[in-house]
Amino acid sequence: MLLVMDQKATQEQIDRVIATVKEHGLTPRPIPGGQRVSIGILNNKGPVDGSLFLGLPGVKDAIPVTRPYKLVSREVHPEDTLIPIGDITVGSGTLTMIAGPCAIESEEQALTIARHVKQAGADLFRGGAFKPRTSPYSFQGLGKQGLEILAHVREETGLSVVTEVLDYENFDLVEKYADVIQIGTRNMQNFTLLRRAGLSVKPILLKRGMAATIDEWLMAAEYILSEGNDKVILCERGVRTFVNHSRNTLDLSAVPVVKNESHLPIIVDPSHAAGRRDQVIPLSRAAVAVEAHGLMVEVHHAPEKALSDGGQSLYPEQFEGLCRQARSIYNNLHAVTE
Ligand code: PEP
Ligand code: MN
Repeated sequence: MLLVMDQKATQEQIDRVIATVKEHGLTPRPIPGGQRVSIGILNNKGPVDGSLFLGLPGVKDAIPVTRPYKLVSREVHPEDTLIPIGDITVGSGTLTMIAGPCAIESEEQALTIARHVKQAGADLFRGGAFKPRTSPYSFQGLGKQGLEILAHVREETGLSVVTEVLDYENFDLVEKYADVIQIGTRNMQNFTLLRRAGLSVKPILLKRGMAATIDEWLMAAEYILSEGNDKVILCERGVRTFVNHSRNTLDLSAVPVVKNESHLPIIVDPSHAAGRRDQVIPLSRAAVAVEAHGLMVEVHHAPEKALSDGGQSLYPEQFEGLCRQARSIYNNLHAVTE
């Protein structure tokens, strides 16, 4: 249930509605909007009787929420969410380019790539310090040292950094260094991790589970919002199918569906979907064409020597070309639709 307050509702009236919701054993969640405040009702076991609140001063409407997710839904929050990160904003009105290596391997590697991608027009730098690897014998990331390198990259280049948190135990540490905390495909339903992310003040980049439906993905985001952190960026990164011409199948239809269902920004990671370099640029162009809010792409200056995902990493000059193409597609689309 969503209680929509009148545009002229006073704070006193809002407080009274909040108190009344609590008196019924329910959880009120005020949602400030451009024009008016709405109050979402959470923790109800079944349908809520709107007439309990409709008579209260300042209440304009009581709308049943038909989706399993609430805080992430457009029903509850019709306006697009914009997420400021340093001097950029992720969400409608801009195309955010995130680029960098799969893993931070050394200071020299990270700085070299960061300088390249910055010059090409990247808005944010990515790089894993804690790597989720299929094999325990593969490079697992530099851990804390990787985070320190990321901090140095930020200082040197001015780029904000995105990095993955693998587990609850290291959340505090990653949170201290990251500007955006990534939760990877394998952890999309790690509910303790999601709840912890919900207590953070940092934006969370939530990747889609490789076998997750859109409902499951949005419910995972709901965990984060329900703990109080509404700065969630969704990232489509491909799902597991029967094909073997790519590592995963990029589900571009997720972009319009998610944009319809949710106010949260959605970006696309073509690198982990493709798993191979030759598909990354075409998939990126398509992702911009379906109006994703951004791209996250793996780039390496010496991919043949990369400690992970070299085969899907773009060369810096390819990324530069991609930035030009992506921005041109984006600008064309907006020239037509605005
Ligand atoms: C990554 O972005 O480094 C990564 C491991 O991606 P995913 O969780 O999508 O596999
Ligand atoms: Mn990778």
